[in-house]
Amino acid sequence: MEDSLIRDVTLRICAIILGAVAVLTAGCSEKDTGPEIRALPDGERPAILLITLDTTRADRLGIESSSVNTPHLKGLADRGLYFTQAYSTTPTTLPSHTSMLTGLYPADHGIRENGRRVGGQLELLAVRLKGLGYHTAAFVSGFPLAQQFGLARGFDHYDDMLADNASERSATATTDAALSHLDQEDAADFLWVHYYDPHAPYEPPEPFLSQYPDSPYSGELAYMDDEVGRLLSAFEARFSEQPRKIIVVGDHGEGLGDHGEALHGNLLYQGTMRVPLVIAGDSIAPASIDRAVSIRQVFDTVLEWAGVESERSLLGSNAEPVIAEALKPYLQYGWQPQFMAVLDGIKMIQSGDIEVFNLQSDAEETDNLAGGIDLAPELQGALSAYSSRALDEPNGQAETQEALSQKTVERLASLGYVGTSGRPILRTTAPNPRDMVPIYHDLDIASGHFIGGRYRAAIQGFSRVLEVDPQNFMAAMHLAVAYSVTNQNEQAQAKFERARSINPSSVDLRHYHAMHYMRNQQWDLAEPLFESVLREMPDRLPALQGLVSIYTRQGNDERVTPLLEKIVTIKDSPGKEWLQLGQMRMAKGDTKAAIGAFEQASNTLGRRFRQHLELGVLYLADRQYENAAVSLDKVSGSHPGYPMAVFKRAQVSVLLNEADSESRVRWAWRKADDTTRRLIANEKLFRDIDYRRK
Ligand SMILES: [Zn+2]
Repeated sequence: MEDSLIRDVTLRICAIILGAVAVLTAGCSEKDTGPEIRALPDGERPAILLITLDTTRADRLGIESSSVNTPHLKGLADRGLYFTQAYSTTPTTLPSHTSMLTGLYPADHGIRENGRRVGGQLELLAVRLKGLGYHTAAFVSGFPLAQQFGLARGFDHYDDMLADNASERSATATTDAALSHLDQEDAADFLWVHYYDPHAPYEPPEPFLSQYPDSPYSGELAYMDDEVGRLLSAFEARFSEQPRKIIVVGDHGEGLGDHGEALHGNLLYQGTMRVPLVIAGDSIAPASIDRAVSIRQVFDTVLEWAGVESERSLLGSNAEPVIAEALKPYLQYGWQPQFMAVLDGIKMIQSGDIEVFNLQSDAEETDNLAGGIDLAPELQGALSAYSSRALDEPNGQAETQEALSQKTVERLASLGYVGTSGRPILRTTAPNPRDMVPIYHDLDIASGHFIGGRYRAAIQGFSRVLEVDPQNFMAAMHLAVAYSVTNQNEQAQAKFERARSINPSSVDLRHYHAMHYMRNQQWDLAEPLFESVLREMPDRLPALQGLVSIYTRQGNDERVTPLLEKIVTIKDSPGKEWLQLGQMRMAKGDTKAAIGAFEQASNTLGRRFRQHLELGVLYLADRQYENAAVSLDKVSGSHPGYPMAVFKRAQVSVLLNEADSESRVRWAWRKADDTTRRLIANEKLFRDIDYRRK
């Protein structure tokens, strides 16, 4: 992070010092061995439009297919470069976009699933472009790319406005937003627009629905193309006075039944991995390019347009094996991890075993040539190097899903994404994901039921999965939780044991098992499990909360305090925890710290804060009389501590020399209970006041 900041600042300074077309040398080069950087002057800097098409198969657009009419994308391909062998890095939205915006494969940027957060250590395209003088804006259409997941960094304007917690917005709404931005005086000259429509469910608007009655997926593509056309015209018009560059790319495709896969994310065949990729703009001559390329090269290509030379740019001729992965079945179900590599029309898939396909003669990938042909050592080497690197730490750099709210998890789940945490066990006997297609449906449906809280339906689905795949850890764990939540304790316990025998090291499992014990008030069994969870994941909120409740029951304030102090730093609105901290600090006689905690509780809870008596008494003890008066005045007449409140208020009043202090003391006497009557009688401050007088 710091490194890239420093670099960006350096670039800006260099651009200023050297003016016009500057070749940066010595002190102004990015790194000693780094690429050459030309900071382009304003007039020469092209306006750049990046359009990403979610879930778009290359062979279904009108560029390659005559059955779908996509005139705008076809027109763009006709006047630009069309890559016939462009590959996603992984068939999942957030990780594949992260590749485009970092130039890295998933093993190197660390984002393997949706619902992760792209960490601040990664150098993002928009940050680099800003450093080169660009104004940057993004318009995204699907929740997996919402601002909270970290790709917004570097954008001056990041529009992820999804109406009313919707999970996606239509191409029309996104285009409208981009167009109104382009109308502005200071419109960004690097624009990223993401369309989500072809993602399931397929529900194109009219007239596209009627035009493609048998293929609503094609209807979505045709509809999206219409909106792409509107965006292209507006972009061309807005930047008509300067050079323009356009890049259109799919983030991954869609199975549509190929090799048994309906959607995307589980397998590595062409339908989900080969994506459309078009580059067009000033000084780009039309051509079709058959070299295999990766969508991660979008990063290098855009930077090259901005003046940073790059070997990996799509405009160069660099031909290295293209890599991709599909780790969802591995991360979620413990099945074989899957990797692929393509070079010169030959594709290898590693997934427990090896498949080899000749894409030129067998685009459908039906004829596995493994063992039958000689493979380029480069291809084999790239695949094995990547797969061992990728399994090193499958979720290493990504921030975990811990921080996601339940609402976020539900929104992701509504799009078919279920997250994981921790590291699966790599079993040599694990099923191959391509053999498991019959149960993907059950898995998806059961996961949806589980996240939606429909536990009995989830139990049925996961039970079927476990019959087919007895070592499926995720199914066993979810079954255990579903049984626990529905109070079927014997089955729950049995499934927890079973899940533990499959993956003894799972943090998630210990966590859920502890929650199960909590539900059954078996505090002593829950305690060691939560403690072990926190040793590995110190910020796991429900475990912290579980232990607070266990230690509080034990009256063990010494152990509760540090946990509460941790929770208030990581939880949203930790009013309850501040209150408990305030009470514990007050009991210990730590006045100032107790005041701090109650003030935080009051800020967090607003009108729901009721501890005005405690806070008032603490202020008084700390000689903050004005504050004490304000707090004590808020104690209502129905509060059981009201007699104490008016007694304390009377003390404060005398100490502040208020004009009405005598009547306040008389009021305290009238409202007194046994305790406060004695206190008033002995109170030296009241010595000279005749409070017994009516
Ligand atoms: Zn996607």
